[in-house]
Amino acid sequence: MDTDSFLLNGVGVQAGVAYGVVRWMAPSVVFRDLVIDLPEMDEAKQLYDRSANFVESQLIKLAEKSVGEPKAILEAQVQIAKDPALRKKVFSYIDKQVPLLKAIFDSGEEFRVLFERLGGIYAERISDLQDIINRISAAIAGLESPGLPHSDTPYILVADDLAPADTATLDPKVVSGILIAKGGPTCHAAIIARSLEIPTVVAIANLDKVRSGTSVLIDGDSGVVRVGIDGVLAGEVIAASKVNTVSSITVGPSKFRDGEPFSLLVNVGTKREIEQVSAKAVDGVGLFRTEFLYLNRTSEPTLDEQVDYYSMLFDKFEGKSVTVRTIDAGADKPLPFLGLERESNPALGVRGFRVTKSRREVIERQLEAISIAAKDRGAIVSVMAPMISTVAETEEFVSLARSFGLARAGVMVEVPAAVLCADEILSVCDFVSIGTNDLAQYLFAADRESPQLSSLHDPWNVALLRAVEIVAAAGARRGKAVSVCGEVAADPLFSLALIGLGVTSLSVGAASVGKLRAIISRNSRSELSGIVRRAIAITDPKLLNSFISGEVVAAQSI
Ligand code: PEP
Ligand code: MG
Repeated sequence: MDTDSFLLNGVGVQAGVAYGVVRWMAPSVVFRDLVIDLPEMDEAKQLYDRSANFVESQLIKLAEKSVGEPKAILEAQVQIAKDPALRKKVFSYIDKQVPLLKAIFDSGEEFRVLFERLGGIYAERISDLQDIINRISAAIAGLESPGLPHSDTPYILVADDLAPADTATLDPKVVSGILIAKGGPTCHAAIIARSLEIPTVVAIANLDKVRSGTSVLIDGDSGVVRVGIDGVLAGEVIAASKVNTVSSITVGPSKFRDGEPFSLLVNVGTKREIEQVSAKAVDGVGLFRTEFLYLNRTSEPTLDEQVDYYSMLFDKFEGKSVTVRTIDAGADKPLPFLGLERESNPALGVRGFRVTKSRREVIERQLEAISIAAKDRGAIVSVMAPMISTVAETEEFVSLARSFGLARAGVMVEVPAAVLCADEILSVCDFVSIGTNDLAQYLFAADRESPQLSSLHDPWNVALLRAVEIVAAAGARRGKAVSVCGEVAADPLFSLALIGLGVTSLSVGAASVGKLRAIISRNSRSELSGIVRRAIAITDPKLLNSFISGEVVAAQSI
């Protein structure tokens, strides 16, 4: 590496090595409040026209290179950019001496309110409208267009933070790696990046020192980012990284060495995941994150739309189990159409099942859609509620689900209170699934989005395993299924520890299924149980990890 090269360290959240040129995601700016020198009235109108034309031609070029749904969206945006009604509204504000950026912002707001009132397809265009308002404002302010950088050639996406909605729309053929300054291993941007199998590192200090256009080599395993590395050296590192990959078994039922079956399930959420998931590769869907379908929506999806999405998945999983989680909005997954109030501590606020307090009809409509989609389809459909804290909430959800004809209902265990009451919770529902991402957040009182606290999200902190042990034991006593669907289940070694504690299934991103099947096939449940019972006394995360890795049969040895 030359003198301009340096190393940065973060937390690797999706394995793999990627080399490429950095493109920064433009930071989000509140254009209304941006202070820039603005021209007089006539010039302001000309500047608006020039900027709107620029945005229009930018979008036409992008549309020409796109196909399918993205092309249709871009073409519709072109119409908004040259919309005479928007232009007229902006000019009327300029005539009233309103500063240009505020004139554009206020015009956008007026149209947003109108679209919301009109509902239907108009309401669906609100995010497109917002994007156009931002693009025109950025052009006026001389800033890069907001959102994901557009490029014909692959690049490494670098961002201060990445909303799940942005991550869900990025194209893995163009974005070959992701670096995020903020976030933690279980943040939702990381979860989606993992599902796209894009090498990703989060929680990187000093990432702002990396300029757009610089070449970087990123290692999504170790979290090391080499900035300014030359192509030859990068090629050698990439070649070496291919030698030690974990073996994978991609087909066939999952079973232990002695032939005992073990249920391996898949997590899905985005439309792309539903389209790409293969029912053949897994025993079913353990977690369908329904809120991922609606991240960009400003209006509630209609009953028919919801039925279509759920049917698409149920058709694929004919004869297999599919667990649909009701909308888990809030914290880092805001769903604008729910109209939830801003809270000072959203992770501890109205999220998950708590939304039923203010928007019960949304959850009811969702259960109705799931029930319609499940009817006459071969998938074995269960529903599950997120963020359950009490036995009473569990009972409320189960009876609500049953009132829509959904016989199998369970809840997620993500809150320490639910761990401590797992026995009673399991007595009133059919199954539980442990959401270790949130459970770790609440158990260690460590925001899953915080880069400074990512070490508390090291799953080898034994308190997490001890919590799982309590829930798995309750499941065994009650004869009910206990699954784990948090990100830690995808770590091959950790998955063995979970199985040793007695969980009855694991649900992971599609990319991790093959590795887990391989490592499970080398081990036996009774051996794992013995190993983990001894390990659970170890409080040092590194020692706990090395004890388990020393005892189990690892996948690399296949
Ligand atoms: C979890 O919390 O572990 C979980 C699976 O749910 P989510 O990551 O969507 O919050
Ligand atoms: Mg959760």
